Amino acid sequence: MATTRKVIILGSGPAGYTAAIYAARANLAPLVLTGVQSGGQLMLTTLVENYPGFVEGIQGPELMETMRKQAEHFGTEMIAEDATAVDFSRRPFVVRAGEQAFESHTVVIATGASAKLLGLPAESKLMGRGVSTCATCDGFFFKDQNIMVVGGGDSALEEALYLARLGRRVDVVHRRDSLRGSKIMQERAFKNPKIEFIWDTVLDDIRDVDQGKVTSVRLKHAKTGALTERPVDGLFVAIGHQPNTQVFRGQLELLPNDYIKVKPGTTQTSVPGVFAAGDVQDHTYRQAVTAAGTGCMAALEAERYLEATQPH
Ligand code: NAP
Repeated sequence: MATTRKVIILGSGPAGYTAAIYAARANLAPLVLTGVQSGGQLMLTTLVENYPGFVEGIQGPELMETMRKQAEHFGTEMIAEDATAVDFSRRPFVVRAGEQAFESHTVVIATGASAKLLGLPAESKLMGRGVSTCATCDGFFFKDQNIMVVGGGDSALEEALYLARLGRRVDVVHRRDSLRGSKIMQERAFKNPKIEFIWDTVLDDIRDVDQGKVTSVRLKHAKTGALTERPVDGLFVAIGHQPNTQVFRGQLELLPNDYIKVKPGTTQTSVPGVFAAGDVQDHTYRQAVTAAGTGCMAALEAERYLEATQPH
């Protein structure tokens, strides 16, 4: 094993890159394990219009490339590997990426969360081309158009309520005949004249891959199997998110929903010296700018932790 690092950052979304920018500027020579697919969820979006600093908006992948270059500019080292195992029970901590092992005095976890998808072949082909997993990111593109939301939990209801302000009509397609979401959200959605529910129904197909945009969906009744077609311009899949915390299980405290538990108002996990930033510890806001903000907090907290525990 090579020399012990001051800080290793896991993940390369807005949280990871922001932590890297701050840590690099603080002379902590950070190493980022970017993951095999770098850039996080913004790599799956098109125009980002709510990240401050870009009057006309910026393409998600371009924003991430810019953050990456900014982190590299200050001397961040990047390795395109996923963390495959960690040992937070010993000090320095150990992070493994396949055959390689790295030691570090602090770790910032910024591995994010992944939107759950339906698994239809057309869904991935039309992602960012009418299919989205984020209403606040993409809803604006479907102003006065026909929008469909899939799911029956609070996320789906929240997305539907947000989208009802923009779209002509919002259909919520749910696989059962009752919602999982909270009563208050249900009431709000039921009261909204633009929102209509399509019960006991699943998506069977999304069209039109050949045109490179969403034009309609084929719906299947969950009980009768009957197929129907419905015109749609924007399809929002809101069936939940899964935080990317598998490798940390047993190493630090997770919440019952698998997100990393942090001390409120900080990025401190249950293991001193291990910090968590971005969506991996946030199931409420889930925005690029909040992820970046907590990435900054994690780097500052890591720096303070090092000052207190590793005096020069
Ligand atoms: P969730 O509560 O797990 O709901 C997921 C929904 O998607 C369920 O209705 C589920 O159907 C459906 N679903 C799952 N897999 C599906 C599939 N393959 N095909 C079709 N439908 C599928 O997830 P969430 O809505 O993201 O909420 C997660 C947590 O965050 C919850 O605790 C929620 O209260 C909280 N949250 C709160 C707010 C708020 O208060 N404003 C906003 C967002 C989230 P079934 O019902 O049949 O299982």
